[in-house]
Amino acid sequence: MASRKKIRAYRIEKTLLFLMVMVMGVCAAYMIITANEPITRDADSIIITSPARIEPQAATALANTGFTDTGYLALVNHNHAVRAQPSHDMLVSAWPTVAVSRVDGMYLHPSALRAVSELFASAQAAGVEGLFVTSGFRGVEHQAQLYNGGANGNFVMPPGHSEHHTGLAVDIMAMGIGQFEFGDSAQGQWLGANSYRYGLILRYPEGAEHITGIAFEPWHFRYVGRVHAYIMRREGLVLEEYIQLIKDEGSIQIEKNGKSYLILFQADQNDTINLPAGMEFTISSTNTAGYIVKAW
Ligand SMILES: [Zn+2]
Repeated sequence: MASRKKIRAYRIEKTLLFLMVMVMGVCAAYMIITANEPITRDADSIIITSPARIEPQAATALANTGFTDTGYLALVNHNHAVRAQPSHDMLVSAWPTVAVSRVDGMYLHPSALRAVSELFASAQAAGVEGLFVTSGFRGVEHQAQLYNGGANGNFVMPPGHSEHHTGLAVDIMAMGIGQFEFGDSAQGQWLGANSYRYGLILRYPEGAEHITGIAFEPWHFRYVGRVHAYIMRREGLVLEEYIQLIKDEGSIQIEKNGKSYLILFQADQNDTINLPAGMEFTISSTNTAGYIVKAW
């Protein structure tokens, strides 16, 4: 009997051990699988797969391709002056599409205005009220007036170096809320959390002052397009860092709603650009001697 009990106990121990090994094995397998699995952090289901170095397949002369530089990723900061301001006929009046602080002289790039309009509609649907645009396109002369007129240098860039010269930047405030209360207001918080869904990034976030050279500006948003905005938001990158990431990686691949995008950097090579063959694409100058291509 004693030996039977021992055998039974031994069998139970063996079974337990077997179960433990099985559980550990399943856990380990799960960890290995999930480690390689792209993480979905948002309902939009945009995911970054492993940065893939995909060599471009076709060299194309920029001028011969019907190529349009969207300028959506042009870096304009202390180190990089704006190269080409949009001409007046490339801009549209923000009023009456969106609420503005003054109805005349408030112009934006059409893509930026469309994004702001969608953003404001979404805000209203979410019960976030009173948003309006206080600044859009500013010419270099206007910036010089602001800069030389005693504006705070922590917030206002020298003439030629303001994102507002691109027509893609917009300052947003809310009725009855002061500039320096805006970041903590429900409106400021909502915008900071949701603008990227419409392709607008919070350009000068808190904690990135050493990179952007500009103090936290909860009111200043920059249009870059939805896919780029999502990656920046998800990875916590400001525009300077995002351009550097694409430069360093050469290319990254992401998926959004089942659609795969290839984002790649191309150095400026005598007006020639390498493009992935057989794909549709958009191109933006980074204003840093190179282009970022979004292909799909
Ligand atoms: Zn601004």
